Amino acid sequence: MNMTRKDFLKKSGLGVLGIGLVEGMMSNQKTLNFDKKKRLENMNESNFKIKNVLLEIGFEFNEKGQVEATKTDLFTISISDGKISAIEKNQPNDANAIDMQGLLMLPSFKDMHIHLDKTYFGGPWKAKNTNVKGVKGMIEFEKELLPKIATETTFRANKIIDLLQTNGASFTRSHINIEPTSKLDRLHEIQKVLENRKNDFEAELVAFPQHGVYYTDSVALLKEAAKSDIDFIGGVDPYTLDGSIEKTIDFTVQLALDHNKGIDMHLHEMNKYGLDTVEYIIKKVNENPTLKGKTFLSHCFILAALDNLQQEKIADELANAGVGIISTIPFGGITMPIPTLYKHGVTVYSGNDSITDHWDSFGTGSMLQKANLMAQLYGYNSEFGLSRCLKIATANKLPLNDLGEQQWPKKYDVANLVFVDASCSAEAVARISPIKKLIHKGKFVQST
Ligand SMILES: [Zn+2]
Repeated sequence: MNMTRKDFLKKSGLGVLGIGLVEGMMSNQKTLNFDKKKRLENMNESNFKIKNVLLEIGFEFNEKGQVEATKTDLFTISISDGKISAIEKNQPNDANAIDMQGLLMLPSFKDMHIHLDKTYFGGPWKAKNTNVKGVKGMIEFEKELLPKIATETTFRANKIIDLLQTNGASFTRSHINIEPTSKLDRLHEIQKVLENRKNDFEAELVAFPQHGVYYTDSVALLKEAAKSDIDFIGGVDPYTLDGSIEKTIDFTVQLALDHNKGIDMHLHEMNKYGLDTVEYIIKKVNENPTLKGKTFLSHCFILAALDNLQQEKIADELANAGVGIISTIPFGGITMPIPTLYKHGVTVYSGNDSITDHWDSFGTGSMLQKANLMAQLYGYNSEFGLSRCLKIATANKLPLNDLGEQQWPKKYDVANLVFVDASCSAEAVARISPIKKLIHKGKFVQST
């Protein structure tokens, strides 16, 4: 089965995506996988057109001025050298265009917090060990566990990337353990994985002192990691682990400034020290404005423990300092004030974090599921509210702005596109609609 796209079009008369027919002809899985790879290659000319692409073009308002429905239309889109080169009136009879069969095109999803370097995913099923308590307990547990799963790192990282792609994401921000047990080994291995997959996936990396900066001395390792091709300096609960908020954050900020990196720090503490840490980070970023827009607090559960007035005050300070919050959208005891963060203009991202690992048994790889969770948790159940929730899956890129004006896609945008079996964003979020295809930088990397 080694046809070009045009040959296949001629022979099948169904368009290149009449895949079921081809796969049905294949008898064993190995051949089928080979065929899928080959088929994707055949689809991946550097210049091609896709037709019958559903795009959102506006809102329909009722007499009260409320959004009643989302307006859509079909288009033909040209992709050249990884970018969108034209968005035109649909040309359903263009035999050279790949038929997208009316699928809704959205910006491809971004998982903004994951750990590619340590997971059970891809191996046998294993739930979290609930006997290990607290971050310090987990550190002792990791010292034993990590060497045992080290040989699996490459295989399992690839499995997570496959899972993300299946769920419409082709970008992630991954924290990578930097501590005396792992040294820089995991970082180097994940960098190699990403190099091998650079044509179909992209990631930014956080040098993550999971075992504390000083609690388990990681200073020299972090300095070494900062010199390599990473994007952020990480951290975790400075007070609980290192016993000092200022000393750890001063080190982290200086390291980020010296190497022109951002900061992305895990913060789980829900007590006074959690709040002190948030305020100290805000202070340091305001003193060093180059860190604005490049500094993030992951989890930041303390925000859920504050009263409304404090939440408003901190949200305003975070927005002014350009410090973003990355949340897995927790529920069941911790409800983050995400609507308040949005109200004040704080950058909010989400991610899967764990994909079945020793920290958590859950993790689906679906950013659309995170958008659905956000809609349910905060009552965003209207057409408008649901459509806005898509932004947690796309790292804040939406086809329509709040007024219903089309703002995506635009000519010359990088062609990072996901195709969903839904009539509009609101339906996709409400139903967690099936992901059918994914284009990364102008190349099909997923097609079912
Ligand atoms: Zn994490």
